[in-house]
Amino acid sequence: MFNAIEIEKIRSEFPILSALSGKRPLVYLDNAATAQKPQCVIDAVSRFYSGGNANIHRGLYRLSAEATAAFERARESVARFINAREPRECIFTRGATEAINLVAASWGMKYLREGDEILLTQMEHHADIVPWQLVAERTGAKIVAAPILPNGELDVPAWKNLLTERTRFVGISAMSNALGVVNPVKELVAAAHAVGALALVDGAQSAAHGITDVREIDCDFFVFSGHKVFGPTGIGVLYGRAEILNAMPPYQGGGDMIEKVDFSGTTFREIPERFEAGTPNICGAVALGVALDYFSPLRLAAAEHEAALLRYATEKLTAVPGLKIFGDTPNKASVISFQIEGIHPSDIGTMLDTYGIAVRVGHHCAMPLMKALGVTGTVRASFAFYNTFAEVDAFVDALLRIQKMF
Ligand code: PLP
Repeated sequence: MFNAIEIEKIRSEFPILSALSGKRPLVYLDNAATAQKPQCVIDAVSRFYSGGNANIHRGLYRLSAEATAAFERARESVARFINAREPRECIFTRGATEAINLVAASWGMKYLREGDEILLTQMEHHADIVPWQLVAERTGAKIVAAPILPNGELDVPAWKNLLTERTRFVGISAMSNALGVVNPVKELVAAAHAVGALALVDGAQSAAHGITDVREIDCDFFVFSGHKVFGPTGIGVLYGRAEILNAMPPYQGGGDMIEKVDFSGTTFREIPERFEAGTPNICGAVALGVALDYFSPLRLAAAEHEAALLRYATEKLTAVPGLKIFGDTPNKASVISFQIEGIHPSDIGTMLDTYGIAVRVGHHCAMPLMKALGVTGTVRASFAFYNTFAEVDAFVDALLRIQKMF
């Protein structure tokens, strides 16, 4: 938990948080879509291009060697952040979406056969559904979607019943982006392993809320995006067990990922380079490393602060007449998804913007979840550790004013 002075200090490190939205102070409650960046990350980007820019791995000169060292140091920061056994198990990708596509295209195309099943949940983000549909179409594998309960939680017994000897792969969101519901990933991964399936945990949301420990979860793959953990866009991570990654074929071909290229045949390097064809987002990786080093020591206190904000906001919103919260369970983090009777979510979002309040409305890239809940969309407010109780007050006051206009 942070006190008022600590929160002010933290907020002062994020320049955008003192910006105006029109004439009003910005109240940024769309952190599940993307988080804001601290000055140290902004400076890292600027510093890299002002004094550190060179291509990596191939240069013999000092600047290239330094850029390579900075890129690999960032990989070490990622490994520390998620407690990977070794940095080489952390592959840089464009984000969580590309990381899942990598696993689906590489592992899926090599190992899935007709009749095999991929077990997903109804609360997956489209990024953990569509890549599997693409691979299922090509391999004849079948996608099975485990249901959710009316309160938005995963129906764990139903999920376990759907897990059979045909299940080769499971994809589980650690935390729903649309509802904030948190899944018992460790238990689900253990159950998947018991039937011989591999497990991918989508940590795009969970990585910014609490501690991630891939060894504790014991997952085979873990993915997250840099921009949701206070780093830049265009950079993310695929963690995978070394032995599984090294047995997978390359996802893309090109420079840096090969041992030897000949028209009679090409051989590939081991991880991480095997999956990092071409010039990567070097600056993005370096700045992500800075973001993770900045955020790591704050994580526990941040999660406590966010939990307090969530409790406070939930209490206040529950008192708003006609307001219904989706994902009405204590097993959740940092997100409130709701509708207000008689007002379209888009109208709420547009009106909140006139008060300087940024929230997201719509299906949140989780159409199957919306369908299961019987809605087409919700209003979603999502908190980060730099949000304040005063911002929650401003948000709820604005909602009450908006409600009076309808
Ligand atoms: N998975 C979840 C749970 C998400 O919330 C998101 C983004 O909102 C993604 C995957 C995809 O992340 P990105 O768009 O950064 O690749």
